[in-house]
Amino acid sequence: MGDVTKDQKSINGYEHKLISNLDFEILNYIDGEFKPSQNSETLHNVDPSTGKIYSTLPKSDALDVVFAVKAAKKAFDKWKDLPVEERSKWLNKIADGIENNFEAFAEAESRDTGKPLWLARSLDIPRAIENFRFFASRILNFESKSYEMKSSSGVALSYVQKQPLGVCALITPWNLPLYLLTWKIAPCLAAGNVAVCKPSEITPLTTFLLAKVFQDIGLPKGVCNIVFGLGHDVGEALVSHPGVTAISFTGGTSTGQKIAAIAAPHFKKMSLELGGKNSAIILKDANLKKAVDVCIRSSFLNQGEICLCTERIFIQDEIYDEFKKLFLEEVQKLYVGDRTQEKTFMGPLVSEAHLNKVLSCIDLAKKDKAKILFGGESVPSSDLSPELKNGYYLKPTVMEDLSDCSELQQDEIFGPVVSLRPFKYAHEAVKWANTTPYGLCATLFTQDLTKAHKLASTIDVGTVWINTWLKRDLRVPFGGMKSSGLGREGGDYSLDFFTEAKTICIEY
Ligand code: NAD
Repeated sequence: MGDVTKDQKSINGYEHKLISNLDFEILNYIDGEFKPSQNSETLHNVDPSTGKIYSTLPKSDALDVVFAVKAAKKAFDKWKDLPVEERSKWLNKIADGIENNFEAFAEAESRDTGKPLWLARSLDIPRAIENFRFFASRILNFESKSYEMKSSSGVALSYVQKQPLGVCALITPWNLPLYLLTWKIAPCLAAGNVAVCKPSEITPLTTFLLAKVFQDIGLPKGVCNIVFGLGHDVGEALVSHPGVTAISFTGGTSTGQKIAAIAAPHFKKMSLELGGKNSAIILKDANLKKAVDVCIRSSFLNQGEICLCTERIFIQDEIYDEFKKLFLEEVQKLYVGDRTQEKTFMGPLVSEAHLNKVLSCIDLAKKDKAKILFGGESVPSSDLSPELKNGYYLKPTVMEDLSDCSELQQDEIFGPVVSLRPFKYAHEAVKWANTTPYGLCATLFTQDLTKAHKLASTIDVGTVWINTWLKRDLRVPFGGMKSSGLGREGGDYSLDFFTEAKTICIEY
């Protein structure tokens, strides 16, 4: 490892060239201070573009969680009693801190996840800034209701107080690290809570930089703490800690089940944003060019590693061949490789383990009689520059004829793999879309608005996009049905989650 003291300085200065060139040590952020884990153990952080280790992070355990929760508890009373305008100003200061170091954040996010730099610049980092600005403004307009009831004994006025919950556990996955964590931190702090965050051990870097922002702007100590480490060490300790009153979790469905099993007997408030198996349905009257363009993005953006990505495309018989031809023409143009180049549409998958998981899904598809129309394998090292040869690059993969009973009709792949399937009647496609344990989102393509509304209401998912995908208005509820989650986040839905409604009734 490099010289930690010198490297820490470089991170303090957010000099992104140094982030990409030096080894350094990521540290926990507890009670306003950077510290290694109590046990001094570390994990390696790997650059998926090259397969090389480029930093370490704490392999924390329950003891670090105890310190973090204690610090948060200590900070709670003062933070919740701040005038809401003050908390709003803090959120805007955090947004400024990210904005002032925009390039460092973008480079860090791209390097840690493998996503193209242009995507981190245009999606992840702007959205993280927007999350803080949005809730800084929203909290100022967060209202509660009052109810008047007249009776013979007088007038009873009931009003609702929205009280913060206390210490909240915020646990997030690796695919959109800063975007998803800030989507939780912003409403959590805005509503007067304090937080202990547990980002993914696979992509810790931008959360570490965020902690640098907290320290630089002088965010009161203990208000937002960060503990790095493995899910079954830190995540479980956090969820089980009696001082934690609420859990906002985004990640896989099986992890969500484990968390729910631990938290439910203690009646902790929970919001679970889980996996998906999302479908696109293309009717014969659709604008075909638009459907192809949107499906290319929805299938392969961020290497297909977005919970909202499309994994199955159902196309009406009459246009199946034409859609397939146009879609494959566009897939062939997608450049996979160096994340720093503008022409790159897909960088490497996030880790070797994830690449192997996605490759095993493709093998299963082949066994299940699917015909691979494009891709189906890693990018050969001869197509990559020498420094990228050990990276985790997969070709975008398109298949058809996947058997009805294949597990892949049901299970989430979470990579750049999509299957095509023709249908005769729209209700057939809706049935297939609904025949999975998941219910996160779906995309519909048709010019017939009546049909669009009717079909949208029959698909069992939290979000239906019609003739578009990934349009996210921060005010709308976001979440999944069935095994895709519990509860909704977004706008006032997030603020409702991060507050407890108390009714106070007075008679006069
Ligand atoms: P994951 O469930 O493995 O991990 C998510 C987080 O939970 C990580 O920080 C991890 O360390 C932690 N964790 C793991 N085991 C834990 C445990 N026993 N207790 C507490 N915490 C634990 O998910 P992942 O592989 O990081 O992310 C991919 C999954 O996330 C996919 O299924 C994807 O669909 C889902 N996802 C969902 C959304 C959404 O909004 N619905 C968004 C992004 C990703």
